[in-house]
Amino acid sequence: MTTGIVWFRTDLRVADHAPLARLAASCRALLPVYCVDPGEFMPTRWGFGRTGGNRARFLFATVAALRDQLRQRGSDLVVRVGRARDILPEIAQQSGAKLLAYHQEAAIDERVEEQAIVAAAAQCGMTAIALWEHTLVPIESLPFAVDALPTTFTPFRKAVESRISIPSAKPVPPKLPPLPQGIEPGSVPTLAELGVESPATDPRTLFHFVGGEAGGHERMCDYVWRRDRLRVYKETRNGMLQPDDVSRLSPWLALGALSPRQVHDEIIRYEVERVQNQSTYWLKFELLWRDYFRFVALRAGSSLFQRWGPMRRNKRWRWDEALFRAWCRGETGYPLVDANMQELAATGYMSNRGRQIVASFLLNDLEIDWRAGAAWFEAMLLDYDPCSNYGNWAYAAGVGNDPRPARYFALSKQAKNYDPDGAYVKHWLPALRDLPAAEAHAPWLAQVPVAYPPRITALRAKPAGKTSAPSRWPAQLDLLASSSSRSP
Ligand code: FAD
Repeated sequence: MTTGIVWFRTDLRVADHAPLARLAASCRALLPVYCVDPGEFMPTRWGFGRTGGNRARFLFATVAALRDQLRQRGSDLVVRVGRARDILPEIAQQSGAKLLAYHQEAAIDERVEEQAIVAAAAQCGMTAIALWEHTLVPIESLPFAVDALPTTFTPFRKAVESRISIPSAKPVPPKLPPLPQGIEPGSVPTLAELGVESPATDPRTLFHFVGGEAGGHERMCDYVWRRDRLRVYKETRNGMLQPDDVSRLSPWLALGALSPRQVHDEIIRYEVERVQNQSTYWLKFELLWRDYFRFVALRAGSSLFQRWGPMRRNKRWRWDEALFRAWCRGETGYPLVDANMQELAATGYMSNRGRQIVASFLLNDLEIDWRAGAAWFEAMLLDYDPCSNYGNWAYAAGVGNDPRPARYFALSKQAKNYDPDGAYVKHWLPALRDLPAAEAHAPWLAQVPVAYPPRITALRAKPAGKTSAPSRWPAQLDLLASSSSRSP
């Protein structure tokens, strides 16, 4: 029996954790280690920090919760500030560890870090065990080589749906080996220690994300069983205001407080015990999108983060600091964009519908570099995940895994379809509260003066041949769709 290190990154749980289970079964002493890389909190070239306050707070709550879970099983979490490639060899030397186990990641920076660590581990006489478990679909079951991954989602989905069975989640080891003598666990850093401003709770917040495995299970239980919302997921999933319109599991999935297979198991159990319908299928479908972007990242390497994207399309973007900042602050003058951007900054979450709308606005109306938008999402989102974030942004920008050119989301149409009574924009932008719905989406047309920022740009012309508004929608909002001829 030997001493082993389990390296935690975006797998901050004890259940369904293959590296932990593997070393718990074979080691006399065990070191679960989490490294806080200060580089993750430094400013980016776009002029803001890489990790914002809400994301940092959720991350550290999740790390602290992991420590509690490990302690309950006789272990602990060793937390160090620094790069894993420096820290892990140091801990190996102090403890005499001979095994290192970790979950493999898909994005390029994480893989480069893994390579550096595997090389350093070999120099210390350690054996590295790398396991791919972050997807529903086991990588070894893929019916194609990663290099031959379909360039669009549908053929990928069809191939895996028809041929692959998803493994079930593994149980938690009831007891874990202790830390070796002489290793101090260390403390979880505070936001202030990392130079991150602590965010205040915004009174408009409708849903609170509680970091950690227990918080993730609580939300899953609530959404699926107590509120019974999985039954109608397909009909509600485009909602922006009501927290239960979607699962909101993404922050726990992104940090690995929940594994995708745990969520998949829960859907299957619900199908057996309550109902199997298009909605239960659709949540599995969305989880396959998550898988797909992981495999895309693995295949794309650094191109996922470059202007030309995984499809290597040479599109030109412009840079306008003032316009970009107005988008980030949610002060573009277009309420549907502003409400979503303010929700993101205030809470660290935005619905998928909102993400598509604000991305289209940045890319098609402001024509700003998609990587700036992706970087802002990276800083803000509690569910930030390099594969899903850069994969979706590249897709929206027309340089990713979509055969069509970038899709344009006309604000008027989005407002009519997804916020027809203006409840969403009125909630996030109280200045618009007393306006009729159409004016709340177009305050520059309001009959009474309203204190609202002026529009920062004209919208792109409505593409020819598109359908007109449904008759129940006030006609003046249609001006929005073709307002490029009307200067803001
Ligand atoms: P649900 O609708 O309940 O879906 C369940 C789960 O399916 C999600 O938690 C997520 O894991 C997965 N999923 C759903 N849609 C997608 C998708 N389009 N791509 C990948 N996985 C998906 N998702 C992230 O997890 N992290 C990101 O950094 C991220 N950045 C995005 C950036 C842009 C520009 C866009 C358009 C989408 C992004 N998404 C990202 C995908 C999606 O918006 C979120 O996963 C979803 O809104 C999370 O809310 P939910 O858990 O309630 O989703």
